[in-house]
Amino acid sequence: MIESASRSALVTGSASGIGAGVARYLGSLGHRLILLDIDGVGVQEVAEAVRGAGGQALGIQADVSDEAAVRAAIADGSRQLGDVEILVNNAGFARDGNLVDMSCDDWDAVIATHLRGTYLLTRAVLPSMQRRRFGRIVNISSISALGHAGRANYIAAKGGIEAFTKAVAHEVAADGITINAIGPGVIVTRMTELGARRAGRTLDEHIEVLRQTIPVGRVGTPQDIARAVEFFIADDADFITGQILYVSGGPHG
Ligand code: NAD
Repeated sequence: MIESASRSALVTGSASGIGAGVARYLGSLGHRLILLDIDGVGVQEVAEAVRGAGGQALGIQADVSDEAAVRAAIADGSRQLGDVEILVNNAGFARDGNLVDMSCDDWDAVIATHLRGTYLLTRAVLPSMQRRRFGRIVNISSISALGHAGRANYIAAKGGIEAFTKAVAHEVAADGITINAIGPGVIVTRMTELGARRAGRTLDEHIEVLRQTIPVGRVGTPQDIARAVEFFIADDADFITGQILYVSGGPHG
């Protein structure tokens, strides 16, 4: 059984999809939530839903690739809900295309949100985690990190996140801080809707095509990822660090 104290947890990209699912689940476990998203309206709605269910949550609009905005959000959140003890770096989006057609903007924007965002958030929370000698960081990667065609920017960012996870795990291992990554497979979110549109399919058709590629025979939900986050952030999971867990309905990696 996983038992943990109530802690202050920051989840990025928590206005929708996986981040919103993780936020709701961590709220149900009694953690105090600092919810950060570039979508200010959406993140307030999720915070409101968590509070409506009896939890504590603060929604903050911020771009994870903006250093000043990240610092301000963490200062504000920590003042209201306590130093961040759990960080879930989840914010992200895809701008797919073959490399020969990929603009510098498509490259930079994807790398900035996933990789620079993960670096900025992690760097900002580490000093207080080191002081408290406790911290749990979970980075959301993707099975895409293993490589396939048509999204070199996204794959480079996710591969970078996995390498970053291992690098930082070494740096903070003696401070009571763990840092791990989860690589989701197909999880039905807004990202899946965009994928369906690109493939010229309805969402249902797209889900069925994807489902047939998944050994367990179903697509994933944000709750599948939330359960893996719960595993990594447990108080007694202090011997598990620098790991990549693919949560994809089959063997990957
Ligand atoms: P989503 O679009 O539903 O949610 C992503 C959230 O991130 C949105 O609320 C968006 O506003 C926010 N965001 C984007 N850029 C931001 C920025 N610069 N600053 C702050 N917030 C920002 O998509 P999702 O599927 O829930 O994706 C969440 C994470 O999971 C992403 O990192 C994605 O790469 C990863 N992932 C998703 C899948 C999948 O199948 N859905 C698979 C593997 C990995």
